[in-house]
Amino acid sequence: MAFDKKLLEIVACPVCKGKLEYNKEAQQLICKADKLAYPINDGIPVLLENKAEPLAE
Ligand SMILES: [Zn+2]
Repeated sequence: MAFDKKLLEIVACPVCKGKLEYNKEAQQLICKADKLAYPINDGIPVLLENKAEPLAE
């Protein structure tokens, strides 16, 4: 199931409450402020700090 981009308008980073960026290739939501990547499972973003991965760059 594809991630619905409309969700980007309502979801926010649980850490800083900032906006998230959608990474289509990685199927992740990115918080640039915290340098965290939240996974998307079956189109559902998992916005939990302990499930997030640190961004590589
Ligand atoms: Zn954040």
